[in-house]
Amino acid sequence: MNLENISKQQLFREITELMQPLYFPVPYEENNIQELAQQEYKLFCKVISARYGFDNDKYILAHNGHSLFDIVHDDVICELRSRMRRDSYLLQSETIRWHLVALVRQAVVRAGGCLGTCYKNVGIHHMEYSSADMYEDVPAVVFQSGMVCTAGGYESAMLYDIYLASDDILMCTLDDKYSSEYDIPFDTLLLESMLDIVHWLRFHSFLPDTDEPEWVCEECGSSEVETLAWVNPNEDNSFVDFLGTDDRGNNWCHHCEEHTGLALFADYGSNQSSLGD
Ligand SMILES: [Zn+2]
Repeated sequence: MNLENISKQQLFREITELMQPLYFPVPYEENNIQELAQQEYKLFCKVISARYGFDNDKYILAHNGHSLFDIVHDDVICELRSRMRRDSYLLQSETIRWHLVALVRQAVVRAGGCLGTCYKNVGIHHMEYSSADMYEDVPAVVFQSGMVCTAGGYESAMLYDIYLASDDILMCTLDDKYSSEYDIPFDTLLLESMLDIVHWLRFHSFLPDTDEPEWVCEECGSSEVETLAWVNPNEDNSFVDFLGTDDRGNNWCHHCEEHTGLALFADYGSNQSSLGD
C-alpha cells in the first residue's frame, strides 16, 4: 500500500501502536514535555516512512514544506501528552543525582581538573603519572553501556580517573574485566555508584567529611532544628513551602527544647564572633 493513499484514521492508529503506554518526563515541566512529544512524533514519522518505503524529505520539498504527516500532527501530540505522567520518585532521584554530580565536580575542580581513584594521581591522568602509588580501595562502578550484549545494557568496571574534559563535561576513565580502558560521561553511572564515589571522596579528604548545616538555632547554634512546612499528601508528602521561619512559633530546637529563631549557619558564626568583640 502507498502511504499517500492511507486514511488519516489508519495513519493515526499505526502511530499510536508505536507509542509507549506511558511516559515519565524528567524534568516534568512544560518545555521538556513539549520537546519529548515532538521528538517522539519525528521518530514515528521516520518509522512509518521506512515501513512504506516513503521518502518524507522528498515529499516535503515537493509540497512547499508541508509533510504528509501534518494531518495527524496535532492529534499525535495530544495523544502523547495524555500519556505523560509525573513520577515523583524518579524526579526526586534525579535531584539527588544532580547534587551528587555537583559534589564530585567540586572535588575534581579542587584537584586541578583530574582525580585518580586507583593510582594517587592528582591534576593529571593516571597514564601520565609516573609513580605506581595506589589506593587499596579502588571503587567499582556500574553504568549503562548501551550495548545490547550485556544483561539489561548494564556493565561494571573499576574507576581509575574522574576528570573535566575540554568541553567542561565531567568524564571518568574505567578499566573493565578485560583490562581495556575507556572513558564515559560521569552522569551515566548508576545512582548507587555515584553515592559510593562521594563516600570514597570523603574517606580520602577530596570532599569535607561532613556537610555544614544550612540552618541552626539562633540561641544555641544546634543544627537539630525543625520548622513547620506545607507538604503535598498526594505526592509522597513532597515539600511545598515553609510556613515561615521568621515566626519563632513555627520553629523548634531539640537542644533548647523550645520554640526558637533560626539563623543561617554561615551568619551564625560571624554573629557570635561580633558579639564577643
Ligand atoms: Zn537551641
